[in-house]
Amino acid sequence: MENGAGNGRPPATAAAWNFEPNGALLGLTALSVRGVLGRVKAGMVGGGGDDRRRAVIPMGHGDPSVFPCFRTTADAVDAVAAALRSGEHNSYSSCVGLEPARRSIARYLSRDLPYELSADDVYLTSGCAQAIEIICSVLARPGANILCPRPGYLFHEARAVFNGMEVRYFDLLPESGWEVDLDGVQALADKNTVAMVIINPGNPCGNVAETAKKLGIFVIADEVYAHLTFGQNKFVPMGVFGSVAPVLTLGSISKRWVVPGWRLGWIVTSDPNGVFQRTKVVESIQSYLDISADPATFIQGAIPQLIENTKEEFFEKTVDVLRQTADICWEKLKGISCITCPSKPEGSMFVMVKLDLSCLQGIKDDMDFCCQLAKEELVVLLPGCAVGYKNWLRITFAIEPSSLEDGIDRLKSFCSRHSKPKVHRSLET
Ligand SMILES: *Cc1c(COP(=O)(O)O)cnc(C)c1O
Repeated sequence: MENGAGNGRPPATAAAWNFEPNGALLGLTALSVRGVLGRVKAGMVGGGGDDRRRAVIPMGHGDPSVFPCFRTTADAVDAVAAALRSGEHNSYSSCVGLEPARRSIARYLSRDLPYELSADDVYLTSGCAQAIEIICSVLARPGANILCPRPGYLFHEARAVFNGMEVRYFDLLPESGWEVDLDGVQALADKNTVAMVIINPGNPCGNVAETAKKLGIFVIADEVYAHLTFGQNKFVPMGVFGSVAPVLTLGSISKRWVVPGWRLGWIVTSDPNGVFQRTKVVESIQSYLDISADPATFIQGAIPQLIENTKEEFFEKTVDVLRQTADICWEKLKGISCITCPSKPEGSMFVMVKLDLSCLQGIKDDMDFCCQLAKEELVVLLPGCAVGYKNWLRITFAIEPSSLEDGIDRLKSFCSRHSKPKVHRSLET
């Protein structure tokens, strides 16, 4: 390698160490929620002396574990403590994960399926994030493309792009309760399409599977929010339709048990017809795991007890709080001009709302809105651009109800302060 003198090459000091930064990799920070939230918070001056002593209200995150009302159950903590005390989980685990943990996850997921999963259908991962990472690596091949929902979860896109895949976006339709635009999916798919990603709950399953079957593509079902539903529709796992089209079900204990820091997730082949076996997807996953790091063994060891001992009341309590905060969000957002919430949230921890920039002044776009809001009101929201939805906002309602009310009140006063004068002169402070 040359020493990098002149013509746009990295400076000699970098080249001297034979390192050239991978521009594609550096660019991927833009595809990360952490990266975007970092930019939103950058201008925030908290904890100062003047009237800035108000608390920061985080409504852009996906991790409510710090709030007392979302504290995990003591049964889960006991399961981990017992696994550690047993002294039996100090070794490396097997590549696919400890058998008892996989068996108990298979049994747990089979409760909602018309067929029985076995331990061999389950692969343990370091959270759902690593499950996504593995699947993207396994499916990627030169020229491949993958279909992702918009709005979606950026991590899928980031991993797909990093593996050289082209990401094609299909729409979820706000006016129809964020249903998948199946015509859009069909228009996007071609012979290089390897899979479509679904984030469930959120999308109706049966017709998605039929479409996948027609197109001959796998379904990747990100079900990290499984059972966190509080509306009319019960959670139906995509695996129910695994005999129509083979489904890779991704999940974790992060959201339902509110322990994202414990890093335990899974890939499950929901495929009663054995398509993944015949096409060597299974073998590819196993090979990938052979060259990957495993989730901590004692967390794996805790899984059987964690699943068996967690009481229904804990799940019900979490869902009750989410239902309550979703209601607060829905009711209070109605009172804010310049923001429309197309439908009442019925699952997960987020709601997407539409910004009407035409009734605001001095605000360029969703990113600008969030930056100014953070600076003036110490309220953190995620700009829609971070989930592929320009000029929308993603609001997390998984926080203490009182903070949520405070946060939306601040959002409201921010909006009236920045409204075009003729609309809101009387409300200006
Ligand atoms: C939080 C989240 C993940 C990541 O889950 P971990 O188990 O914490 O890695 C994956 N997908 C979606 C949609 C999420 O919201």
